[in-house]
Amino acid sequence: MPSLLYCTKCKTYTMEKECKVCKSKTIEPKPPKYSPEDKFGDYRRQAKSSEYKEKGLL
Ligand SMILES: [Zn+2]
Repeated sequence: MPSLLYCTKCKTYTMEKECKVCKSKTIEPKPPKYSPEDKFGDYRRQAKSSEYKEKGLL
C-alpha cells in the first residue's frame, strides 16, 4: 500500500513522490514528537489525586 505523502509548499497530501502542482519533493508527514497519551496520563493522574484529596483519602 502506498504511503500518503505531503507537499509542504502546497500543503496538500498526495500519493506522488513529487508534487504534480509545484514539482517539489513530497515528504512523509511525521507525527509530532510529544505523545498525547502521556499528556492525558498526566492529566488523569492530576484529576485522580485531586479527587482523592476531595474525598480526604490523601
Ligand atoms: Zn506542491
